[in-house]
Amino acid sequence: MPVIKKLFFAMAVCLPAFLFSQSNKDSVYILQPDRVFDGVAMHENWQVVVKGNKIEYVGMEPGKFQNARIIRFKGCTLLPGLIEGHSHLFLHPYNETSWNDQVLKESRAERVTRATVHAQKTLLAGFTTVRDLGTEGAGYDDAGLKDAIEKGVIPGPRMLVATRAIVATGSYGPKLSNDIDAPKGAAEADGMDALVKEVRTQIGKGADVIKVYADYRWGLNKQSMPTFTTDELKKVVEVAASSGRIVVAHATTTEGMRRAIMAGITTIEHGDNGTPEIFKLMKEKNIALCPTLAAGDAVAQYAGWRKGFDTEPLQIQQKRISFRDALKAGVTICMGGDVGVFAHGDNAREMEMMVEYGMKAINVLQSATSVNADIFKINDKVGRINPGLFADILIVNGDPSKNIHDIRNIQLVMKNGIIYFQ
Ligand SMILES: [Zn+2]
Repeated sequence: MPVIKKLFFAMAVCLPAFLFSQSNKDSVYILQPDRVFDGVAMHENWQVVVKGNKIEYVGMEPGKFQNARIIRFKGCTLLPGLIEGHSHLFLHPYNETSWNDQVLKESRAERVTRATVHAQKTLLAGFTTVRDLGTEGAGYDDAGLKDAIEKGVIPGPRMLVATRAIVATGSYGPKLSNDIDAPKGAAEADGMDALVKEVRTQIGKGADVIKVYADYRWGLNKQSMPTFTTDELKKVVEVAASSGRIVVAHATTTEGMRRAIMAGITTIEHGDNGTPEIFKLMKEKNIALCPTLAAGDAVAQYAGWRKGFDTEPLQIQQKRISFRDALKAGVTICMGGDVGVFAHGDNAREMEMMVEYGMKAINVLQSATSVNADIFKINDKVGRINPGLFADILIVNGDPSKNIHDIRNIQLVMKNGIIYFQ
């Protein structure tokens, strides 16, 4: 039994619900795992001192602190709290309820209630920050959820939110009969004036990032085809950038990716049909890829693919190829699984698949911590085990740089200096 669980066992038997330790600005923890992954590299025999809500010291000789609680984690690895790069806290797996039915038939009360549960599961899985890329029909409720978490009303990760996201008219769903004006899963806007207004509206309502769909399944045969023109995408980037915000683009087609790249977006989500030329361009322009491998894997299985038994569907084979091409080109890889398509709390599935598809485990750990923090411009707060940053910390049994599955062997989750456990 890990020491921390012993420490709080008495409390745990009294309170059956979700628990978290009290911390104050003077509380000091000295955490002693076998090794520390600081967001970049692994260091044997390092210790980490947490004072209040900040990391105070990291290294081999922490010195003396008054009233410090020293906790030894034998056989364990300490890492920065993980950063999920692509979540949808307002969605749940499509094999439970289709996306259409979630958007059209679930009440906002149900969707928000579910999101609060998803937020808790995410945090307990060691993901102390999420970039939530669209509520899919739940308006600006992600901004409200973020507020509630920050105020301590419910436990959950730090959130960067995209609010409604932006799609081209006619491209997005749900689509019912032409006689029914169904609510859409994102905000429709076209042309310079409407796009400028929509971006500014979303910023005003709390968007930390702006998300656009550079392509979608509206081709003649329902295949993905580009939506916005390059000039429209450029305008979105220009308006968002003047407020200090980055733009992320959903893009799976080569042409959609090319337009997003030329427009100056910061990350491309999915990128299934990226070519070596496209990835070379992304590398040149320092644009990151958020591959969402786990979402494609989940959707293929929902459609009947029996992983491990049947041959891989074409889209999975293509995904393996494009991901390897991106790695080969040296594109910065963001860790983000499109979680919500699959179960919240199972975020590690993306990290495991990144290794399965050819990425080194240590690089996956970097993606999920310092790399994501750098791309999302939050590296002055989280993403590394550095003095002065917020004490967002994960401790797991084993060494996930050797076996990525160890990232699931959670011994402790700390966010902002507070320990959370079940
Ligand atoms: Zn998504």
